[in-house]
Amino acid sequence: MKTVNDFNFNGKKAIIRVDFNVPLNDDMEVTDATRIEAAKPTIYKILEDGGSCVLMSHLGRPKNNEPEFSLKHIIKKASEMLGVHIKFSEDCIGTKAEEAVSALGVGEILLLENLRYHQEETAGNRDFAAALANLGDIYVNDAFGTAHRAHASTAIIAEFFPDTKCLGLLLASEIENVKKVLTDSERPVTAIIGGAKVSSKITVLESILDKIDHLIIGGGMAFTFIKAQGGEIGSSLVEDDKQELALEILEKAKEKGVEVHLPVDAVIANSFSEFASTEMANSAEIPEGWMGLDTGDFTNDNFKEVILKSKTILWNGPVGVFEMEPFAKGTIHLGNAIAEATKNGAFSLVGGGDSVAAVKQFNLSKKVSYVSTGGGAMLEMLEGKVLPGIKAMQDLNI
Ligand code: AMP
Repeated sequence: MKTVNDFNFNGKKAIIRVDFNVPLNDDMEVTDATRIEAAKPTIYKILEDGGSCVLMSHLGRPKNNEPEFSLKHIIKKASEMLGVHIKFSEDCIGTKAEEAVSALGVGEILLLENLRYHQEETAGNRDFAAALANLGDIYVNDAFGTAHRAHASTAIIAEFFPDTKCLGLLLASEIENVKKVLTDSERPVTAIIGGAKVSSKITVLESILDKIDHLIIGGGMAFTFIKAQGGEIGSSLVEDDKQELALEILEKAKEKGVEVHLPVDAVIANSFSEFASTEMANSAEIPEGWMGLDTGDFTNDNFKEVILKSKTILWNGPVGVFEMEPFAKGTIHLGNAIAEATKNGAFSLVGGGDSVAAVKQFNLSKKVSYVSTGGGAMLEMLEGKVLPGIKAMQDLNI
């Protein structure tokens, strides 16, 4: 697959799918600009070549073009960060967009209004993709966060650029880093899967068993496994309909020689609140009315031991409700262990919205090898799926 480095953008207009789906506060200010920062290398390469950039993105999930989802809210922050005043088109297709693109000079950047103000975007509509394709000479996909979606701007549009489509530098490095875990990994390989949603991650567990030596399961996820094995979990998070699958995964792991590490103790609370009363308990003996919200000290030590002997580490999902101070210790401990292993030479890949937030909150971003911008996309790639946004960029002869 070609990247922006294979093209000279001199005199060209690049239509770039970026992921500027950034969080905003009540005053409509950007509270975390990581995704804008991540798009910089691609944008700079194009501008330095003497080209211009037409940026397209979605923001949130608007239903009726609600103004709070307008990308105009990010212009100020993005202009500051890129050091270029960004122009804006109030529609992403049609006359307004076409006129704005025609008026765009060398070295300039135009941001199009939220793609999802048109339902055709998520529907993958071909006419809508054609209208977007009209706005550039070269199509660049630099949005890993949406690469697992076959949307108009992430996949369908590529059809209109058979010889003039390429990956942005962010997307290229995301692919390269996930591949390091999938194919070129040094053993032992450890996957740490935490968070709350068993159903969205359990299929990944199944498919990565062939590639790993250790599987650490933490967070709310763990209680479905603990209950399935006969444990008492009180009112901890659980997905009862996934218990059978959980047992199957444990069985398969055994067959494949993968060591599974579940929490042995937990910080339990009598309500889902940072002001709740808390106690320590065996994670399979949680009394009625109490819930496990973090890993306990024995678990933290166990997890650390596994992590320190690993050479490749994949982390998706916190092991506790780290957003609340009383339940953050397990995730901090885990993050520090990954940082230590990385310092000792391991390769560590962190992905998934919440683990990335945790890594940032605890200042570990620079202490892990790679922080991915895509949670769902990263998991689907690890499952071995070919992402539509990446497939669309492959040349026919590959
Ligand atoms: P996910 O989106 O599946 O990665 O879930 C992330 C969320 O899981 C975070 O917001 C955590 O607060 C939450 N979480 C982690 N551990 C637990 C737990 N033991 N019980 C409930 N929620 C949890």
